[in-house]
Amino acid sequence: MRIVLMGPPGAGKGTQAVGLAAALGVPHISTGDIFRSNVSGGTKLGQLAKTFMDAGEYVPDTVTNDMVRDRISQQDALEGFVLDGYPRTVAQVIELDNMLATQGHLVDSVIELEVDKKAVVERLLQRAAEQNRMDDSKEVLEHRLGVYAEQTAPLITAYQARGLLRSINGMGSVDQVKQRLLAAVGL
Ligand code: AMP
Repeated sequence: MRIVLMGPPGAGKGTQAVGLAAALGVPHISTGDIFRSNVSGGTKLGQLAKTFMDAGEYVPDTVTNDMVRDRISQQDALEGFVLDGYPRTVAQVIELDNMLATQGHLVDSVIELEVDKKAVVERLLQRAAEQNRMDDSKEVLEHRLGVYAEQTAPLITAYQARGLLRSINGMGSVDQVKQRLLAAVGL
């Protein structure tokens, strides 16, 4: 199963993606996590990504696409994966299709977590306080939500037109949302 999990910042995507990947027995691939581990490891990629992340901007497509291409071609991802935080732009959608086509595969399902905006903002501000994340300050957060609306939300319509989209209610406890997600993938 090759699944893309979508939703605005603060929708609880990361937590749910981990649980879904474990239930499916496939790796959880989070571009945000890969960038963050490069930032803390002080790699060249991390230094480049940090400037964009701290400003609430997307890391350039070419950089992100190369990183994902490399990750999904690793052995553990050949049977499937749950992608969390990728694709986020139209160009990334095209690139993901190309990457999978070289393996003879397609995206099987795109799942959108639907949440209300106020709840999202509250969740993010709470996380910022807990984890001291630079990219969750109020101004940066508003910017991130704007970037999401402009660049990423249109992907939902595009995947819907391809008949791949399932939208589930992302409000409620972690466990409630998890049950809905599992049902959406037939588990
Ligand atoms: P996340 O943890 O998924 O919210 O990602 C944190 C940050 O990493 C984002 O705000 C972006 O700066 C960067 N990032 C993660 N995934 C992508 C992506 N697919 N394209 C561009 N930038 C990304």
